[in-house]
Amino acid sequence: MGQKIAIIGSGFSSLAAASYLAQGGHEVTIYEKNSTVGGRARQLKKDGFVFDIGPTWYWMPDVFERFFGDFGKKPSDYYELIKLGPAYSVYFGENDFITIEDTLEKICAAFEAEEPGSSIQLKIFIAEAQNNYEIAIKDLVYRPGVSPLELVTPVTMKKIGQFFSTISKQVRKKFENPRLVSILEFPVLFLGAKPSNTPAFYSFMNYADFGLGTFHPKDGMYSVIEGMKQLALSLGVTIQTDQNVEKINVEQGHATSLVSNGQHISADIILSGADYHHTETLLPTKYRQYSENYWENRTFAPSALLFYVGFDKKIENVEHHTLFFDVDFEAHAYTIYDEPSWPENPLFYASFPSKTDKHCAPDGKEAGIFLIPLAPGIEDTEAIREQYFDKIMTRFEYLTNQKVRNFVIFNESFCINDFVADYNSYKGNAYGLANTLLQTAFLRPKLKSKKVKNLYFTGQLSVPGPGVPPSLISGKLVASLIEKHLN
Ligand SMILES: Cc1cc2nc3c(=O)[nH]c(=O)nc-3n(C[C@H](O)[C@H](O)[C@H](O)COP(=O)(O)OP(=O)(O)OC[C@H]3O[C@@H](n4cnc5c(N)ncnc54)[C@H](O)[C@@H]3O)c2cc1C
Repeated sequence: MGQKIAIIGSGFSSLAAASYLAQGGHEVTIYEKNSTVGGRARQLKKDGFVFDIGPTWYWMPDVFERFFGDFGKKPSDYYELIKLGPAYSVYFGENDFITIEDTLEKICAAFEAEEPGSSIQLKIFIAEAQNNYEIAIKDLVYRPGVSPLELVTPVTMKKIGQFFSTISKQVRKKFENPRLVSILEFPVLFLGAKPSNTPAFYSFMNYADFGLGTFHPKDGMYSVIEGMKQLALSLGVTIQTDQNVEKINVEQGHATSLVSNGQHISADIILSGADYHHTETLLPTKYRQYSENYWENRTFAPSALLFYVGFDKKIENVEHHTLFFDVDFEAHAYTIYDEPSWPENPLFYASFPSKTDKHCAPDGKEAGIFLIPLAPGIEDTEAIREQYFDKIMTRFEYLTNQKVRNFVIFNESFCINDFVADYNSYKGNAYGLANTLLQTAFLRPKLKSKKVKNLYFTGQLSVPGPGVPPSLISGKLVASLIEKHLN
C-alpha cells in the first residue's frame, strides 16, 4: 500500500530518496524552506554571471550513472558532462604550480618531474586506491550503517590494517616531496577531516581524483539538481518550496504530522534531509536521540568563507579549479580542528567555471568562486569577511602574477551565519559530519530514529557521509530502509 511520505528539505539526498520512494508507489511531498531546491547546491545568478553556491567538483561519475540507471535513465538525459583537462592546478609559490592533467599517465609524468622515481610509487598507490574504490564505492557505502557486521567481509578483513593507519602515514611512506604529499592528501579533505585523522582505506578518493577524473556539468552543478528535480517530478513527487518546517508532532512514539508555516500536514512517514541536529530540535525533547553533548563532541567537517566574484576581464594563469597550498597546511588545520579560530594564513581554493563554460560569465569576463575552509561556529562579521577577501586577493595577485582587484564588478560573500540562516546548519558547518574512523558507517547518526517509529533521516550528517555522491547514496539507503520496514 502506498504511504503518504513527507520529506523535509530538497538537497541531493532528499531529491534522491523522493525519487526512489515515488518509484515504490508512495505519495511523496518535499517541503523546502528556501524558495529554490538544491540545498547547499543552489545557484547564484547575477549580472549575467552564474555561480554554484556549494559543490563545484563533480567526482565519481559512476555513482551518478548508477543513480539515474535505477530509473532507466542516464545523466546525459538531463545534463551534459565535460571532462576537465587539466583537472586542476596547485600553487605552491609565486608562478610556481603543478598541473594535474586528465590521465594517470600525464600525472605520472608530472610526479616524475617533481621527484624522480615517484611515478612508480604513484602507480602502486593508485592501484591500491582503485581496489579500495571497488570495495568501498561499489559495495560498502551501499550498506545502511545498521550493524558493524556490514563492514566485515573477507576483502575488508584483508585490509583491516588500512582502517587503523591513516592516509597521511600511507602517503608519507611512499613519497618524500612535500608538494606531492599535499597533492595526495588533498582528495580526502572532501571527507571533512585531517588526512592524519582519516583511515588509509579512504585512499579510494585518490582513485576518484587521478583514476576517474574531474568533470564539469554544463551550466554548473546546479544542472544536476535540475535533472534530479525533473526526474522526481516525472515520478509524481510534489515539491513545495518556501515551506519552513517548524515542528514534528509525535504521539506515543509515532510521528503524526509536520507543522510548516503554521499549517499541520499529516503523514504516515516523515523523512528529513535537513541537518540531523536541526531536525531533532523540531521534536519534543524526549524523542531526541542525540544530546547537545553528543553533537559538541563530534568531529564536524569545516565551514567555509566563500566569495562569488564577477571579474571584468579574463583571469590568467589559473585553471577551472586552482588550489593555493602556498602556506602551512598544519597551521590552518589546527584552527579548524584543534583550536577553532580564524587562520592567520589560510589555504584557499578558487574556481573559474567560465574558463570551461561560456554560460557562466558574459563574454570577456570571468566568474570566480573563492573558498577558505574554516572551523564551524567561529565569529562571522562583515568586517572579518572583508579582511579575508583582501588577504586572499593580495596572495592571489602575487602568486598568479596579475592585477585583478580593480576588475571586481561585484563580490558576494557566504559564510557561517548564512549556512545557519539558509540551511539550519549546526554551527554553520558546510560539509556535515566528517568521516573519521569513529564516525564511519554504523558509528554515524542513524538513518532511522530509535525513538520515533516512523521517522527517518538522510544526508551528509548521516550515512554514508559528506559530498554529493554520498548524498545520492544516502537517499537510496534510506528509501530502501523505509521499504524494508514497510514489508
Ligand atoms: C561550499 C560547499 C562546497 C562543496 N563542494 C563540494 C564538491 O565540490 N563536491 C562534492 O561532491 N560535494 C561538495 N560539497 C558537499 C555537498 O554539497 C553536500 O554534501 C550535499 O550537497 C549535501 O546534501 P544534503 O542532501 O545532505 O543536504 P543539504 O544540501 O544541506 O539540504 C538540506 C535542505 O534542507 C532544508 N531545510 C533545513 N531545515 C529545514 C526546515 N526546517 N524546513 C524545510 N527545509 C529545511 C535546507 O534549506 C536544505 O535545502 C560542498 C558543500 C559546500 C557547502
